[in-house]
Amino acid sequence: MAKRDYYEVLGVGKNATPDELKKAYRKLALQYHPDRNPGDKEAEEKFKEAAEAYDVLSNPDKKARYDQFGHAGLDGQGGYGQGGMNMNDIFSQFGDIFGDIFGGGFRGFGGGFGGGAQAGRRVMRGSNLRIKVKLTLEEIDKGCEKKIKVNKYVPCKTCGGTGSKNNSYETCQHCHGTGVITEVKRTILGQMQTQSVCPHCGGEGRTIKDKCHDCNGEGIVRSEEIISINIPAGVQDGMQLSLSGKGNAAPRGGVPGDLIVLVEEIPHDLFERQENNLYYNTFITFSDAAMGSTLEIPTLSGKVKVKIEQGTPSGKVLRLKGKGLPDVNGYGRGDMLVCVNVWVPKSLTREEKAALEKLKDCPNFQPNPTKQERGFFDKMKDLFN
Ligand SMILES: [Zn+2]
Ligand SMILES: [Zn+2]
Repeated sequence: MAKRDYYEVLGVGKNATPDELKKAYRKLALQYHPDRNPGDKEAEEKFKEAAEAYDVLSNPDKKARYDQFGHAGLDGQGGYGQGGMNMNDIFSQFGDIFGDIFGGGFRGFGGGFGGGAQAGRRVMRGSNLRIKVKLTLEEIDKGCEKKIKVNKYVPCKTCGGTGSKNNSYETCQHCHGTGVITEVKRTILGQMQTQSVCPHCGGEGRTIKDKCHDCNGEGIVRSEEIISINIPAGVQDGMQLSLSGKGNAAPRGGVPGDLIVLVEEIPHDLFERQENNLYYNTFITFSDAAMGSTLEIPTLSGKVKVKIEQGTPSGKVLRLKGKGLPDVNGYGRGDMLVCVNVWVPKSLTREEKAALEKLKDCPNFQPNPTKQERGFFDKMKDLFN
């Protein structure tokens, strides 16, 4: 099933403000909330769809990629496959939004998602990690796998990322193990009970008794890791790929951050890139231009033979269909544009001079441009076509 447009899902315009996005999402989240639609699979799908749309459009990185490349821009890079988001992700990421709606905490309706008491736990999130990868046009042409050494937070092996020595915990004194603090407030509507996550234990209901010495109770340590990154074919300089969950580990078993990969293109010796097209300058002798010939032109996938017609003027641009770079979204390939330049000798021997003298006054050597050849704008159009 094809995914719907995220703007359409939320019913907002492309220029919606963060506030408008939040409002639109809250409305849908309320309408399709699983607690209000028990057992309704369609509502659940709608709920997930809205969460996914909000996740992407409320994140400037993801939104920029989505605006530029559509759903394909997010594939495998912080996007969601056909399965979409899972419920735990939704509640851990957007807990604050539900919190607003349901008056404190989102523990109250966590029960349905397999988490039981855990569902209300506030999950810590690791920070994002940013790295740069330098790519040659050859690598971009085929797509490649890059192995990059990064220094990042990983779960502590000694305590298994829990931060607790020997798994020793004690019940939180402040919330008595419930993970929530309940307050009773007087309002004009009478007494209202509000619940919020216990700030002392972060909603876990327990605190660590003996801290792990290796990580000082944090559950994470710094380490060098080799990360392998699959670079899709056709990426461009300045593009960012985001690998969900490959960033820094979170303290005490939370959700890891993302790895943001910034693409940097190494300039090529022969080709210049513009979008998916490649430009190449070739130089031929006057004789080849006048009599015609066959040239070998380098491309990213080896040499190709190109016919030069007799009487080819200097500056003529030949288009080699499909010899450019692949589109990052899989919409075919760009072309290679070969500009044919007639080489004019910079110095001459006496014999060369004598030979040219003989040709100088021949009738066919006298300039006789057509109207089109004279036209400045036609020539420019030719160059860019
Ligand atoms: Zn540890
Ligand atoms: Zn507590």
